[in-house]
Amino acid sequence: MAVLVTGGAGYIGSHAVASLKERGEEIVVVDNLEQGHRAAVTGGKLYVGDLRDKDFLETVFKENSIDAVIHFAANSLVGESMQNPGKYYHNNVYGTLCLLEKMIEHNVLKIVFSSTAATYGEPENVPIDEYDRTLPTNAYGETKLAMEKMMKWFDVAHGLKFVSLRYFNAAGAHESGLIGEDHNPESHLIPIVLQAALGQRPHISVFGEDYDTEDGTCIRDYIHVSDLADAHVLAVERLRTGADSSIYNLGNGQGFSVKQVIDIARLVTEREIKAVIEPRRSGDPAVLVAASNRARSELGWNPKRNKLEDIIRSAWNWHVANPQGYKGKTQE
Ligand code: UDP
Repeated sequence: MAVLVTGGAGYIGSHAVASLKERGEEIVVVDNLEQGHRAAVTGGKLYVGDLRDKDFLETVFKENSIDAVIHFAANSLVGESMQNPGKYYHNNVYGTLCLLEKMIEHNVLKIVFSSTAATYGEPENVPIDEYDRTLPTNAYGETKLAMEKMMKWFDVAHGLKFVSLRYFNAAGAHESGLIGEDHNPESHLIPIVLQAALGQRPHISVFGEDYDTEDGTCIRDYIHVSDLADAHVLAVERLRTGADSSIYNLGNGQGFSVKQVIDIARLVTEREIKAVIEPRRSGDPAVLVAASNRARSELGWNPKRNKLEDIIRSAWNWHVANPQGYKGKTQE
């Protein structure tokens, strides 16, 4: 039986494909290559198409014996979701509806879902646990929460079992050096800092120095993308044992400020990285740190690459070897 990975050509999806391959799983990848890269898919059979195309999806389910789905395919930029929420509802929510309906039609009743800390919004508690209030502050987080809720009602009605994984800040790159982070445009802190180290940007803009934190900059919980990927494989294995639906946070439980990230990047890269303080970015909570005990105890998840220095070093190796990202590898 195969695992279908939607969005398997994207940053986290491609690392999940690599983890599945390492466990000897049969893999089918679906990606519309809007954000993903063909060269990022290092295993399985790739179908290029969109979840909202029902004939396309029917072909994928008909041609393969799929027993579980890992669902990454979605738009994920907070800023863009505030400018164009319709795009997020259409691709994320309607795309998920098409996928779930197709799964039910083909009696595929296991799904691992790529969710986000953005479902919580401004946290009530630090660290955040899965029972805390979900009140998204942006349209992206709202659509991810809607997708989780859709799965819950499909469970009630059809027995669809889901594991929703709420990530904190994914970072780093696969140890093989073959896959890594390549967004266009890039908006995430660590790749932007490393682009500044490579001289591809004049500086890094620090969004706000007046937060209620020790050095005034935002604190985030950075987790290695391969550790995230491993959690998806464990979640598939858990669903195959007949487990009930559940939701897990995935983070290291340790927060680092923007300034600390830049300092560690300076150490790792041994380059000058100019930082310029700028106004706050809208919608950024001051502190986002995960309580991930539940994933550790129930999934048996044990993140191995927890030192931020090592996470940044793995990202740096990827950036140095692929300064133009996947563009240097293929046309897509
Ligand atoms: N950040 C920054 N400059 C940048 C990009 C991000 O200061 O060019 C800050 C951002 O305000 C946030 C943290 O870095 O506090 C992490 O942002 P990122 O976009 O990487 O992830 P998010 O936490 O938004 O998911």
